[in-house]
Amino acid sequence: MLPDHRNDTQNLGFGTRAIHAGQRPDPTTGAIMTPVYQTSTYVQPELGRHLGYEYARTHNPTREALEGNLASLEGGKHGLSFASGLAATDTLMKLFSAGDHIVCGENVYGGTYRLFNQVISRMGIEFSFVDSSSVDAIRAALRPNTKLVHVETPTNPMMGITDIPAAAEVVHAAGALLSVDNTFASPYNQQPLALGADVVMHSVTKYLNGHSDMVGGVLVVNDDEIHERLRFLQNAAGGVPGPWDCWLVLRSTKTLHVRMAAHNANGLRIAQWLTEQPKIEKVYYPGLPSHPQHELAARQMRGFTGMITVETGSLEAARKFVNGVRIFSLAESLGGVESLIGHPASQTHASIPAERRNAMGLTDGIVRLSCGIEDVDDLIADLEQALAAV
Ligand code: PLP
Repeated sequence: MLPDHRNDTQNLGFGTRAIHAGQRPDPTTGAIMTPVYQTSTYVQPELGRHLGYEYARTHNPTREALEGNLASLEGGKHGLSFASGLAATDTLMKLFSAGDHIVCGENVYGGTYRLFNQVISRMGIEFSFVDSSSVDAIRAALRPNTKLVHVETPTNPMMGITDIPAAAEVVHAAGALLSVDNTFASPYNQQPLALGADVVMHSVTKYLNGHSDMVGGVLVVNDDEIHERLRFLQNAAGGVPGPWDCWLVLRSTKTLHVRMAAHNANGLRIAQWLTEQPKIEKVYYPGLPSHPQHELAARQMRGFTGMITVETGSLEAARKFVNGVRIFSLAESLGGVESLIGHPASQTHASIPAERRNAMGLTDGIVRLSCGIEDVDDLIADLEQALAAV
């Protein structure tokens, strides 16, 4: 039997860990798949003695298997799963107190910006938003009371890259922690803990689950003390996922390496094709040599995913493009096996004020593609016929 993640699966390859880490056959029946422990409580044999499980907000075996699996995929020691990506980020925020200062990348997912700017900031925690693709900008924003620097890389949707090792050095020198939202890259393509980050966060909803049928989040850390504090908060605040959703993700991560290789290949091919289209003014894709941070991206990522952002030039052009697709679907979200197309300014990033959006290049003409793993020629033909109407 393969060991579970606690017994050093880190020596195994990514695909082997994707399939086995955190899991072992059910000890009662030998069922190879981890059961869905759909229970709220656990019977205790006698007062004062239990079998390691008392109440399902605190412990659930399906959730534990998922947490072990995701920790292993990020090359980390501890995983904590949550009911959504935002619930994971919200719990991370509860490590901090009134009077603390947090630096955040300016081009984060709109919901993250809204959580920080409209919810957490009301609790006396101050935020500075900076262009995290510049380590100098991060350094300049640090204050004596800065406790955390939180970045996305690549960013959603402008595909800016943060130099994780360089940022970690600057952040650690100031006595703060570095957390990385790794949702866009997936652990197959980028492992921030190995590059120096302290916390990795994911919207599990996206590439990790990959089948667009649940919402979830995860935090992965190496440090035992941070883990203990987060584990306390996970139970104390209670934003945990249900066991069925955990099981869906466990099934999905078994193919993460196969899916990501296909997303990477389709993404690169479609990005190259888009650069040749006269109706597309600009293509943002870190896998293209024309991306200003291509070399950095190639250094810290092994592939560039299926996420591509393009500038169509106007709201009208963007509208015609997204309305014209037939295989791509117009929808928020990303990272599923099926291709999606979206308009960040009116969908995922609508909660960011227009001036701030425009300052980052997130104009009304920006369209975001999440290239799935359908046959790439079909996807290109679909985009071609949609662009013909623009
Ligand atoms: N981080 C990124 C990069 C995202 O794209 C999203 C959602 O789109 C989130 C975080 C939030 O995750 P969730 O929607 O699972 O709460």
